[in-house]
Amino acid sequence: MSNTDNTIVHIDGISKSFGKTVALQKLDMKINAGEFVTFLGPSGCGKSTTLRILGGFERPDGGRVLLSGKDVTHLPPNKRKVNMVFQDYALFPHMTVMRNVSFGLELKRMTKDQIAARVDELLSFLELDAFRDRFPDQLSGGQRQRVALARALAPDPELLLLDEPLGALDARLRAQVQVELKDIQRRTGKTFFFVTHDQDEALTMSDRIVVMNQGRVEQDGTPEDLYLRPKSRFVAEFIGDTNLISGEVKHAKDGKVDIDWFGMNVQGRSFDYTPRTGELVTAALRLEKVGFYDKKPETGNAVQGKIVNRVFKGSRTAVDVRVGDVNTAILKAYVDGDVPDDVWLGWDSANMAVLQD
Ligand code: ATP
Repeated sequence: MSNTDNTIVHIDGISKSFGKTVALQKLDMKINAGEFVTFLGPSGCGKSTTLRILGGFERPDGGRVLLSGKDVTHLPPNKRKVNMVFQDYALFPHMTVMRNVSFGLELKRMTKDQIAARVDELLSFLELDAFRDRFPDQLSGGQRQRVALARALAPDPELLLLDEPLGALDARLRAQVQVELKDIQRRTGKTFFFVTHDQDEALTMSDRIVVMNQGRVEQDGTPEDLYLRPKSRFVAEFIGDTNLISGEVKHAKDGKVDIDWFGMNVQGRSFDYTPRTGELVTAALRLEKVGFYDKKPETGNAVQGKIVNRVFKGSRTAVDVRVGDVNTAILKAYVDGDVPDDVWLGWDSANMAVLQD
């Protein structure tokens, strides 16, 4: 295959089973050079298996892996320009930071001077100069993570695989390292393929997120796409806090869908498909997209309701609002500040995505 486009990784119909467990079902995907792509999904959906196949640690049952247009499906890890950062970093405890970074280069055909120059460059780039003579147990979690990254970047791989590398960090440090990692990726211009089951992490760092479910791609898009235009119930529930509104389609045209929800008329938007009149559909409405009004709002969707539950969350309060004439019609929303129990709720139809399943 010639490589005239910007594709650096082409996963071409990869399948993999372990006994009766199907880990991957004909996975197809292309990744562009310089992209930060995150594989997101629940435990067991096939994220690590994909990573291991890309790294050459696992053979697929069918399909091919192409790197820069070259079929590497049957090449061992050391013959691919791919490197991996593991969750536990796998640093050598008896080696200094400097030796941890230079170790992989010593196995290559490089002179001592070339190795020293490359190590210096990486330690400076990752702000690790001051720690070059320390051992891993003399470093913080975030510093260890940067050493693991320096070591993985040292041989100048085309693709860097990161398997939940922030899993061992506490929440505060994790948020800081997420920003750092994204910045490092941007500055190196390298292609990062990152695996996580944490949706916040995926939204924070990625140019593109691939949501996996049971060995298949559920949706592939930018963080904004997945958040604002989920295509399935699975994606809507996996990313963000959402209301799921189910009802019968009264009318659908040009992506605008009128739904009968417990006798109330609400309007949502469908993307890439048009549901039929009479069809039962589910629409996703993010909690923070619901607005509160003291009288009926003039535009968008409007329903009257009563707050039946409040949970204080610090910067905001999560509320359950009973709407319409039936006890089961509940909308969840966030409020900051005081609101009375009797309210009008309003939201823009563009913020309610009608789902395809
Ligand atoms: P996690 O987030 O828990 O790491 P994952 O999405 O990375 O999950 P994989 O590790 O890719 O999932 O596993 C996909 C499926 O394949 C799971 O059902 C898993 O149990 C199974 N599996 C993976 N590796 C093996 C193996 N070596 N032997 C048997 N089954 C395996």
